[in-house]
Amino acid sequence: MIRRWLFADQLGPHFLDAPRQPVLLIESKAVFRRRAFHRQKAHLVLSALRHRAAELGDQAIFLRTDTYGEALRKVSGEPLDVCHPTSRRAREFVQSLDGVTMLPPRGFATPPAEFVAWADERHGRLRMEDFYRDARRRHDVLMDGDAPAGGKWNLDTENRQPPPASGVEVPDPPMPVEDEIDEGVRADLDRWEREGIRFVGNDGPRVFPATRREALARLRHFVAHRLPAFGPYEDAMLSGDPWMAHSLLSAPMNLGLIDPLDAVHRAEAAYRSGAAPLSSVEGFVRQLIGWRDYIWHLYWYFDADYGGANGLRATRRVPAWFSALDADAVEAHCLSDVLAGVRDRGWVHHIPRLMVLGNYALQRGWRPADLVDWFHRSFVDGYEWVMTANVVGMSQYADLGAMTTKPYAAGGAYINRMSDYCRGCRYDPRSRLGVNACPYTAGYWAFLDRNRGRLRGNARLGQAMRQLDRIDDLPAVRAQERSRGDEAP
Ligand SMILES: Cc1cc2nc3c(=O)[nH]c(=O)nc-3n(C[C@H](O)[C@H](O)[C@H](O)COP(=O)(O)OP(=O)(O)OC[C@H]3O[C@@H](n4cnc5c(N)ncnc54)[C@H](O)[C@@H]3O)c2cc1C
Ligand code: SF4
Repeated sequence: MIRRWLFADQLGPHFLDAPRQPVLLIESKAVFRRRAFHRQKAHLVLSALRHRAAELGDQAIFLRTDTYGEALRKVSGEPLDVCHPTSRRAREFVQSLDGVTMLPPRGFATPPAEFVAWADERHGRLRMEDFYRDARRRHDVLMDGDAPAGGKWNLDTENRQPPPASGVEVPDPPMPVEDEIDEGVRADLDRWEREGIRFVGNDGPRVFPATRREALARLRHFVAHRLPAFGPYEDAMLSGDPWMAHSLLSAPMNLGLIDPLDAVHRAEAAYRSGAAPLSSVEGFVRQLIGWRDYIWHLYWYFDADYGGANGLRATRRVPAWFSALDADAVEAHCLSDVLAGVRDRGWVHHIPRLMVLGNYALQRGWRPADLVDWFHRSFVDGYEWVMTANVVGMSQYADLGAMTTKPYAAGGAYINRMSDYCRGCRYDPRSRLGVNACPYTAGYWAFLDRNRGRLRGNARLGQAMRQLDRIDDLPAVRAQERSRGDEAP
């Protein structure tokens, strides 16, 4: 049987054709020299790779080299195959090699040809909701015959609740127990740092699964104990509870340790058995065969230069305090807490990413490409394929609406409604002018004002634009935000 070369994000059994298939695994140090990743991300990836090598034993050749090329030269002569890699750069590299066959991608629900057929039919009008409904039908998930289970495709209205005052009462997710492999990784990373390789963020006990066993434990626990509360509070934020009822599965999913359809089937089984409500199960299924797959396919479907899109002409560099994850420099409670979460764990959930971090960058006009790089390096689950559409399209509206109908820009009122942050903040979410002016509220109006020309035709912003026209202190707000500049708020 031909030897299967597995990239470090292809570690689950579904990347092999048979349990005893010979394997090649490569750990390349050069990757870490190219850019400063979060220390916990580097730890997770190396730990996962080394754990997989240990599991496979003599079934795998495991090479630790500086570059992939160096490793491949050591096994030259033996034919290899490899599942389609997850970045354009890696795909080009694989295509340039003799004796390596590239297979179709795995680890996603919808095959590429089905996505392309779906997208081509729409002549550029791509909407996640349409793709998701189509995927539900094709995979026969949460369907009763031809109709969606419960009669509705979308239960977002039930799922957008503010956080409950008493907090979300679910048991914490099971945390991995570090072993001697983690110890070895930590010692190597310490040594690499002494040699000059730079990381960002704090080191800490490993929070995310590095093995299939750990990943399955987290998935089973989530479906049994946390999924019922997932839906209602998936958009809410609480300062003392970073996890809430989220699954914390993106990192092991992106390492290839869990097949998303397996997670979807388990969630559906919980609904069918009455163990979890439809709103939560639908919300979770939507994330996996909807959003995750959609983002993956858009990465390949859009041209390679989509990653450099900058339709709003945002030209400011990401400031040093943000790129260094210096949460202590920030007074705005929401941003400080979220940035501290990235610094300490390399993870915050979807809404802090979109409505606190991304929203702030959008309002300030930071360069989308800088932000892509920042998210990619700073998050434990960050990979190029998942950055491009999430950051360029959804968060920064740099494609001027190729994937969303309006920019995800919002003032402090949204953050106040969906979190407990504003109560402990020195700013006032209702105020746009003066010493207590909330940087999000003032920043929202300054953003709309700066982009009037580009956003004027957007029907979904019509009401906001009319409100903007009625703001009599707009020149003062404009001047205030200009002078706030790129200082930490
Ligand atoms: C600006 C921005 C940057 C993001 N960067 C990443 C990233 O680097 N890596 C990443 O995996 N996700 C990213 N996301 C999507 C999403 O925020 C994370 O997948 C999610 O927060 C991970 O936590 P969780 O596993 O608890 O997810 P849950 O809330 O429990 O959701 C379940 C699963 O759905 C999938 N999912 C949901 N939404 C998305 C999405 N938009 N794109 C891809 N997968 C999705 C993930 O696999 C996730 O594990 C980003 C979103 C935004 C707005
Ligand atoms: S007042 Fe503004 S800055 Fe402070 S927590 Fe609320 S939204 Fe964030």
